[in-house]
Amino acid sequence: MAFIFSRAACSSPRSLWLCRRSISTTSKFSHSAIHGSSAIAPARTRFAPSPTGYLHLGSLRTALFNYLLAKRTGGQFLLRIEDTDKKRTVEGAEEGIFDTLRWAGLQWDEGPLAGGEFGPYRQSERTELHKKHVDILLREGHAYRCYCTPQRLEALALTRKHSGQSTDYDRRCLNSPPTTSTTEPHVVRLKAPVQYPPYHDLVYGTITPGARSHDHSIGAYEDPILLKSDGMPTYHLANVVDDHLMNITHVVRATEWMPSTPKHVHLYNCFGWTPPKFVHVGLLQDTQGRKLSKRTGDVFVSEFREKGYLPEALNNFVALMGWSHAGESDVLDMRGLVERFSIDGLTTGNTKVEFGKLDFLQKQYARNRVTEGPGGKEILDAVESQVRKKFGEKYTPYPQKPQLSPFTRTNGAVA
Ligand code: GLU
Repeated sequence: MAFIFSRAACSSPRSLWLCRRSISTTSKFSHSAIHGSSAIAPARTRFAPSPTGYLHLGSLRTALFNYLLAKRTGGQFLLRIEDTDKKRTVEGAEEGIFDTLRWAGLQWDEGPLAGGEFGPYRQSERTELHKKHVDILLREGHAYRCYCTPQRLEALALTRKHSGQSTDYDRRCLNSPPTTSTTEPHVVRLKAPVQYPPYHDLVYGTITPGARSHDHSIGAYEDPILLKSDGMPTYHLANVVDDHLMNITHVVRATEWMPSTPKHVHLYNCFGWTPPKFVHVGLLQDTQGRKLSKRTGDVFVSEFREKGYLPEALNNFVALMGWSHAGESDVLDMRGLVERFSIDGLTTGNTKVEFGKLDFLQKQYARNRVTEGPGGKEILDAVESQVRKKFGEKYTPYPQKPQLSPFTRTNGAVA
């Protein structure tokens, strides 16, 4: 319990430092052993994007935190493509994800192209597994088949809305038989409990979802859909089944997914499985406190890449959003990040993104590449391509070799 209260106060780097001290003096366990980030047990983490477009800075950060936790603990980092919503799937987005992750140096240990013993790693190729698990829920009374037409559901929602009530489902199909011999279109719904169970988040402490008893008293039930009428699973079902079957130990994701977690924990309980550890990280915001979006500038990794930002600068930049460490310098390349990474350093709350820091880091890494490695030519090419883009015709290429004037003799005498 003391641990939960301590975490709640740990929202700034300073309070975090104080918390670290107070925990280490009050607990006989080491802090890292409590959180498990630098503990001996290797973590199996996953990045689970939906192929709906370009990777956002926030997604890069999620992937990076998952990668760092796996590498820090000697575990595995998985890539799973969550492509069960065909309407939202964008052609070429999957390749874009692979390309961006590779550019950022976040090579996955298991996943599409890499393989692994827990595959397939595309959810659309796992539907038989998902259906098999839905059958278990149906058999054990945790889910039911719903034959209501979209028209009926719309009419129900409209009537309820007019009378100021919750538009949730009325459970007309609650008692439909678990097995079906008809091909009549239907979905499978989860029988949602009055109250979802509390769960422990390694960053946010104990989360207790609110009761929905009021809605139940007027005959309105959330009962989320698990299997759609096209036979495809929804996010909740596929995410839980796959995390379990892939032996994921830590789910690191943005807080926008927190409202889903109680449903997931309930599903784990229904299956009789132990849930993974949940690690939610706050959202990225612009300086006005709004969700970081195209409205305020670049947000896609590809845009930063096109502008010539180096992967080590961008990784370092996103790693510092919502994570702090006790080291002296914030300039941390991948090796430094892996060495320092710990769940203890993740902070609660959203992060306002200040791009000035990215330029500072870019300068550091550009300098490193020029002075320490064979990357000087690459940097020169990147600068050249930016200048060419900006000045077009007016740009004169920098000479590769010193040019001699036609009027100059090698002995220096003018002809
Ligand atoms: N498919 C979800 C996404 O696009 C995954 C969320 C999760 O990590 O559970 O981000």
